[in-house]
Amino acid sequence: MSLSRRHAFGALGCMFCAVAVTPPRPADAAGGVPKTDLTPDQALARLMYGNRRFVADQPIQPDIGSARRRALSAGQAPYATIVACADSRSAPETLVGAGLGEIFVTRVAGNTVPAPDLASIAYAVDVLGTPLIAVLGHESCGAVAAAVAVVTQGLVVPPIMQPMLGPLIFAVNAVRNQPGDLLDNAVRENARQGARQLSRQPEFAEKIAAGKLKIVAARYDLDEGQITLLDT
Ligand SMILES: [Zn+2]
Repeated sequence: MSLSRRHAFGALGCMFCAVAVTPPRPADAAGGVPKTDLTPDQALARLMYGNRRFVADQPIQPDIGSARRRALSAGQAPYATIVACADSRSAPETLVGAGLGEIFVTRVAGNTVPAPDLASIAYAVDVLGTPLIAVLGHESCGAVAAAVAVVTQGLVVPPIMQPMLGPLIFAVNAVRNQPGDLLDNAVRENARQGARQLSRQPEFAEKIAAGKLKIVAARYDLDEGQITLLDT
């Protein structure tokens, strides 16, 4: 990591509440907590196992007790980063049975990756050492539905919501002429585009090539509860 990037992450320290405001040294950037030793594939298997338990109505009951909280006050070493929608039905911790300190999550409506979220994801990968990023779209996403309505019906959204829709409209247009349900096709395409966007980041591409990072796209089915991986 370059000196300038160390300083950049140091400036984020108070924001993430895990490290001091002073720039962290690489060795203690996760607050003294060892980074996960899971490989990208092992991290993905753990995520999917947690979801299978959730689907089967036998969710993992993560340890959220006081001892765990105290241990985590020293730092964090999550095993996965999840890029999810802000939708109240798609909280990743619930869907995979993850407790405190296990997954690092960014959430905006439409599970896109605006610049501040990209910085957060880079923090999770570079400093906290997560070996997996999952971009998680979901069935009947309202944000994607709004983008579909903009494209197909000329819906006009309030200016305050417009920044949310740009990448979603791009995804809708990419699948507009495909057979099947346009909304669901766009949900899938949007997740794929998010994964591709992240995979193109030079720092992430380098880690992917070295086998240290995996980036996947996925769709969450609201009623079935199942997370399905998508080809990217
Ligand atoms: Zn959504």
